[in-house]
Amino acid sequence: MTNTSDWSRREFVSTTAGAVAAASLTGTSLAAQPTAQRAIGRVKVREVRTFKLKQALYVEVVTDAGVSGWGECAPNNKDVVETFIKTGIVKHVVGRSVWDGDPIWNDCYFDNSDLGPSGPLLNAIAGVDIALWDLRGKLAGVPTWQLLGGKYRDRQKVYGSFGVDGGKRMTAEQAAKKAASFAERGYTAVKLRMQLRGRNINPDPDPTIAYVKAVKAAIGPSVELLVDINNGYTAARAIERGRWLQEEMGVRYYEEPTSMQHLHELAQVSDALDLFIVAGENEHSRWQHRDLIDIAKVDILNPDVSKAGGVTEVKRIAALGQATSKRIMLHNTRPGILTHASLAVVASISNAAEYLEYSDPEDYASLTALSSMTLPVVEGHLRIPDGPGLGIEIDPAAVRRAVVA
Ligand SMILES: [Mg+2]
Repeated sequence: MTNTSDWSRREFVSTTAGAVAAASLTGTSLAAQPTAQRAIGRVKVREVRTFKLKQALYVEVVTDAGVSGWGECAPNNKDVVETFIKTGIVKHVVGRSVWDGDPIWNDCYFDNSDLGPSGPLLNAIAGVDIALWDLRGKLAGVPTWQLLGGKYRDRQKVYGSFGVDGGKRMTAEQAAKKAASFAERGYTAVKLRMQLRGRNINPDPDPTIAYVKAVKAAIGPSVELLVDINNGYTAARAIERGRWLQEEMGVRYYEEPTSMQHLHELAQVSDALDLFIVAGENEHSRWQHRDLIDIAKVDILNPDVSKAGGVTEVKRIAALGQATSKRIMLHNTRPGILTHASLAVVASISNAAEYLEYSDPEDYASLTALSSMTLPVVEGHLRIPDGPGLGIEIDPAAVRRAVVA
């Protein structure tokens, strides 16, 4: 699309590029440069690009100022989400001010919500919304968390997360080895995702006991073990296993023990157990998280920034959680853009939970190769990035080379 703004790219570059670049590099304020500020306020979206990668779907929002922001959609069925962005989202974004985040979000959502209130629509919005928040921070020369209201913390504790696909991906011994490798690298908590799934409810035999015992023995008492069933139990089985996990294994966090399709069943588990019941990776909007609170009575909300409509919607979910005394433990399965976006949100909310999910960067080398850095885990924590935008520099040429068919 051609430049639709009423001022030229050359004007922007001549008045702001140096100021933005200087501010980005030095952290200095643009307050003394009103001309530059006015120009930044008029920046519009010129193009939305998508990049289907082996382990992610990246989104680049390009402006008429020549500055780009980067976002990421959840990796489930990347072809569908990429098509959704191109056919349902781009028309509501191109040509509009990068600062009109809420109206853009509303138009994207309500123009497409007849297709359903969840899934590809919210995934597609998420990638563009994350990119817009990155972009605004880069234009202003400040971290995104600052635009979200400031930060409550300088670092965030994480748990190392890995899944065993109901026992098909790795043996209990291999799971124990994987968990131990997190502990050896300084993680103070590990989450075992059993991934039993609703298609195989109450499996018999149930691999959970053997895997939990093996992992617990490998990490010892000083590393916390969180357990995610991924929808695999009825309420009765979930309550029985939950009591065992708490009393015998010292588990405190129990995630999605029952079907995401049946919130009343999850409420039975919430009522019966003193564990922290966690759910939200399959609920992608504020309305669905309202139901998790009102119907399922969960303790901790678990939205994913790359699934649940991006930074904008997850901030709303966090406010809903604050109003109902629920903490937010973000679902986060990718290092790179998504982790940086998650940290921006976590930094800016008062009701962040004890942990943020963090998947092993070594399992996602194809993504970590696309940016200048991988955040190190130090004493079990990730530092909140303080660079402009999401604080991550993406290599556009490397992203283009990494595109898959
Ligand atoms: Mg989960």
